[in-house]
Amino acid sequence: MEALWSAALPLLRQHVGERNFSAWIEPIRCFDSEGEIRLEVPSRFYQSWITRHFLPTIRDTVSELSGAPCVVRVVVATESPPERRLPQPVAEPIPPPPMRAPKIGQLVPNYTFDTFVVGATNEVAFQAAQAVSAAPGKRFNPVFLHGGVGLGKTHLINAIAHELLRRRTRMQVACLPAESFMNLLIVALKEDKMNGFRDRFRQIDALILDDVQFLAGKERTQEEFFHTFNALYGNEKQIVLTSDKPPAAITGLEQRLRSRFEGGLIADIHPPTREMRLAILRAKADAAGIELSAEVADVLVQRSGTSVRELEGALNRVWAMAAVRGTQMTPELAASALGPYARPRNTVSVEIIQQLVSNKFGLSVADLVSHRREREVSYPRQVAMYLSRTLAEASFPAIAEKFGGRDHSTVMYAVRSIEMRRAQESAVDQLLLGMENELRGQAR
Ligand code: ADP
Ligand code: MG
Repeated sequence: MEALWSAALPLLRQHVGERNFSAWIEPIRCFDSEGEIRLEVPSRFYQSWITRHFLPTIRDTVSELSGAPCVVRVVVATESPPERRLPQPVAEPIPPPPMRAPKIGQLVPNYTFDTFVVGATNEVAFQAAQAVSAAPGKRFNPVFLHGGVGLGKTHLINAIAHELLRRRTRMQVACLPAESFMNLLIVALKEDKMNGFRDRFRQIDALILDDVQFLAGKERTQEEFFHTFNALYGNEKQIVLTSDKPPAAITGLEQRLRSRFEGGLIADIHPPTREMRLAILRAKADAAGIELSAEVADVLVQRSGTSVRELEGALNRVWAMAAVRGTQMTPELAASALGPYARPRNTVSVEIIQQLVSNKFGLSVADLVSHRREREVSYPRQVAMYLSRTLAEASFPAIAEKFGGRDHSTVMYAVRSIEMRRAQESAVDQLLLGMENELRGQAR
């Protein structure tokens, strides 16, 4: 169980985000308690927070990894029996950041320049970010970075902030999502503290605002931001903005803000090339101490989506699965681990899956859902159950219901056994890949 927990950690980090992870998930201690996963937390407040916000995600993640539903309980550490070693009490949920913190906002510690892999698709953005860190407010102002989700915008602006704070001890940096800017503004308006708000933002030396597309349609926030922008810009303070699209494509953005945004350097980031994706994988694996063969890296690159975030997710998933099963990260394992997860979610129904599988095996749907036990029927049935779980993302009981009202443990067993065969027999993997492709085609 404890191995399962440590394997689940990188996945949870992805699911809940860096900040929640270090504040809430990392301090948890995990114990095995008669087949249950027992998570010990330092206080009642912590317990209710975790239960409310993260328990479903935790349960799903460990269940997926172990291949069977897991019972997860969150308990307060002092409730544990006295003979057991108590976890170290965690006084503060948020550990102190190792580096200097920005004046406003928070940084992700490892989003730095030296962990960023540079290549043709992000070179301009990278160089702009470095130039800004070396000479803030001088050459490029504002800098506007845009590109799709998971391509490194947040990473780059964190790197800028780290570098500014490292080089200039007096520098006051604000690095925050545009949404937080708005929330701070709302609070200030409500509490009638607008002077304080303005002072706070106009006294900083660099304003780094992430995801400004969020400001679209938020007129009051845009107005306030416009004044903040002008005040800082007029004083030659550095401004860096990111967005998922270029300024001209943000509908609901006031013309005067758009022209400010377009007045500086605009750099876009595109999805990484194959070589870059391999280099990124290599870097992430090295940083995490994961041994990654070229063959496995190939599978990861082929089977995960185009963004770096998906690539990282794929690496973590395969690594976790290997750790749980106590095996090496083989290309086969990678392929099976990535089957259901690495591609966009879709909406194949269990019925469509039953149809396709019966066709493939020359059976009728009635045979497939019957209680007949011959191999010619039971193997296709298991395959259909597996696909229902991975592609239709139906629950075990829901699948059991649709396969002639069986017990859900039968479905769990089927899914697990196909998973195992898929990892071991390439013919099974090929067959599944073919059907997954067809089904995905139908889902569109
Ligand atoms: P965005 O803000 O553009 O949606 P992020 O900056 O959050 O994307 O990046 C998603 C993940 O991918 C992060 O973990 C980040 O460290 C990683 N990443 C993105 N681009 C690179 C890169 N060029 N080199 C290393 N890691 C990267
Ligand atoms: Mg981002």
